[in-house]
Parts: sequence; structure tokens; C-alpha cells
Amino acid sequence: MDLLLRGIGELATPLGQGARGGAAQGEILTLRNAYVLVRDGRIAKVGEGTPPPFSGEVLDCEGRLVTPGLVDPHTHAVFAGKRVQEFLARAWGERYTGGGILTTVSATRSASEEELVRLAKPRLMAMLAQGVTTVEIKSGYGLTLQDELKMLRAIRRLGEELPLTLVPTFLGAHAFPPELPREKYIQILVEEMIPKVAASGLAKFCDVFCDRGFYTVEEARRILVAARNFGLGIKIHADELSQAGGAELAGELSAVSAEHLLHVSAAGIRALARAGTVAVLLPGTAFVLDEPYPPARKLIEAGVPVALGTDFNPGSCPLASLPFVLSLAVLKLKMSPEEVLTAATLNAAAALGLAQELGTLEPGKRADLVVWKAETFAEIPYWMGQNLVWAVLKGGQAVVAPKA
Ligand SMILES: [Zn+2]
Repeated sequence: MDLLLRGIGELATPLGQGARGGAAQGEILTLRNAYVLVRDGRIAKVGEGTPPPFSGEVLDCEGRLVTPGLVDPHTHAVFAGKRVQEFLARAWGERYTGGGILTTVSATRSASEEELVRLAKPRLMAMLAQGVTTVEIKSGYGLTLQDELKMLRAIRRLGEELPLTLVPTFLGAHAFPPELPREKYIQILVEEMIPKVAASGLAKFCDVFCDRGFYTVEEARRILVAARNFGLGIKIHADELSQAGGAELAGELSAVSAEHLLHVSAAGIRALARAGTVAVLLPGTAFVLDEPYPPARKLIEAGVPVALGTDFNPGSCPLASLPFVLSLAVLKLKMSPEEVLTAATLNAAAALGLAQELGTLEPGKRADLVVWKAETFAEIPYWMGQNLVWAVLKGGQAVVAPKA
């Protein structure tokens, strides 16, 4: 099925098939009075001025802004239960120590796969309504083989039932299950869970929460090397709560991404730059926890490609709005609108191993794009907390219909 989007006031997109770091992160192509031709769910042609003669379906964007669909490269969107009391207690001055994860583990273990799907659907539809077309979702609230597989199956079903690309990550090393000694659980992770999760085909990546009070660098290395040996990609929750060496480990293992990085060291930044690892920054979490923001400018100046995600989860960041995170990135991380757009599209896609498939508006890529009620892309972070989405196309299909 063919579709022509015409009357695009501004088309804004990064370019390329891989993550852009340093000055290249701020390079955005903008076209005025533009059009996009979609053929068989993929972008066939992008141009300025009068579109070529066309006989299929036409969508007149009436001067609005068009960008690639946004990509959220870090969420924990599948879970049961809520932590409202913890949220309020923290707001009144209690420091986050991570104990709260086990509250969600208990609720998620009690929930069925069907219940997890039912609970996650409206959360993901709310993300889609705000222009997000690809979402990474981590397991990690099961902490047993059976419950982790249940979460991963729920993610697969959500991907089949919703018009979103969902990327599943196994995060068995999110916390320690209360019923087992630490060393025993790590042994089970390495010898049983990782091989079975890899064999199930339900996860693309393996992630470890490497930080003070969670997994040490040595434990994380052991887990991630095992995951790599079983063919899983590698991600690390790194240096969120302390300067624990997670970024250095991400560089050493050439992880696809290192995520959080609030306390990343200078050596950690150099290690990420050398390895080409994407820094996935999650300023929503720093905002909720009242923590210092990650050093985006230092990372960009060092040539590390920066991506942005929500970290949406029921504890440290009950924030599902990636556009709001883009506002925080401009205000608090001092990123430019150009850098922010690259971070939430191409670089986020690269953090999921999908930069050749999506994340830019170029011929051959999947036709995932958003029509915004805005004239320029700098308005996306500017109009804070508003939903500027006019329409969303996923693989060339209107999945959020044009609205008045
Ligand atoms: Zn996380």
C-alpha cells in the first residue's frame, strides 16, 4: 500500500545507519515544504517542493512538522502493583535505596501473564499517543526463571497485539531475590537462566544493574560474559547511584549501551567513547529522585553518542512521557534541540541494534513517523507537558489518526 505525506511544513531528521556522537549528534536535516513517499511500509522517497505524480492515498499535513517516530530505549513497562506510598515518602525526604524493587517483584510474581499484558497495554498506548513507535522493555521483576520468562512472554504478546516495535531485554540481574543467598542466585543466573532465556528467543539483550547495593563489577562481568556467549546483546545499568565502574565495564565488554551514568567517571567516559557504546541517559529518574543529572555535555564532547529514554517504572520513575524527558534534556542536561532529536530517534535505535531499520526518515527505512502540531522540532521540548502529536504512522499505517 502506497501513501504520500505532503504539505509538510518542516521535516526534521538525523541521517545515517548508526549512532552519531560528538558534533555529528547535533546535525539534523531540515526540509521545508516537504513530502514523504511510503511504499510497502517503508520510506521510498523524501523531498522538498512538488511531490512526484502519485495515485495512492494522500495525507495532507497542512504545514505541520514531521519527524521519525520516537524510540524509548529504556523502560520497565511490564509490572504489577503500584508504589504510591514510596513515591510520597521519597518526596518528603527518604533516600532511595533500591529496596522498593522487591515490592514490585512480589506483585509481579503473583500476576499471570494475561494480567501483565492487560496492565501494560494502556501504558504503552499512552506512549504511542505521544509519538513513540519503538519501546525497549526490560524484565527483572520476576527473579526466578519461571517469572522472568512470564514477563518476557508478556512483552512478546504485547508486541504482537499493539502497533509498536517492542525490544525485550532480560534483566534477571535487577536485584537479588530474598529467598536465595547472593552467590547462589548468580550461579543460577549464569548456569540456568541465561542459557534458557537465550534458547527461548524471548530476549534480544541482557542487562545488569551494576551499582552500589546491587551487582558488583565482577559479578556483572561474569553475568554479561555468559550472556554474550549465549548470543545475547549486552546492556548495563551503570553508575546510577554511585561511581561503581559500570561505564568502564561497558567499554571493556563493548556493550551496546550503558544506561543512567549519573555518576560516570572521566575514565568511564573515555571507555565508552573508545568502544562506541551508546550512553542512554534517563533524566526523568534524576528528576524524580532529586539526584544530580548525568553529564550529557561531557559525554557528547568526548564523542560518546547520547540517547534519551524514560526509564518508566513503578518506583524510581513513574514517568512515561518521552517528550517530557526531551524537555528535561534541554533544560537540565543542556542539550540542543538537534542533539535531543538525534538522541530520541537514531541514537536510541542504535542502542537497540535497530539503527539500520529505523530512527531516521531516509529511503529504505521503516515508515515510522510522527506528524506534530508544531512548526519546528524545537517546539517538541519547548511546549512542556503538552501532547503535540497530530498523527502517528507505524510502518506506513496511521496508528494514531490525524486529529483536529
Ligand atoms: Zn532501568
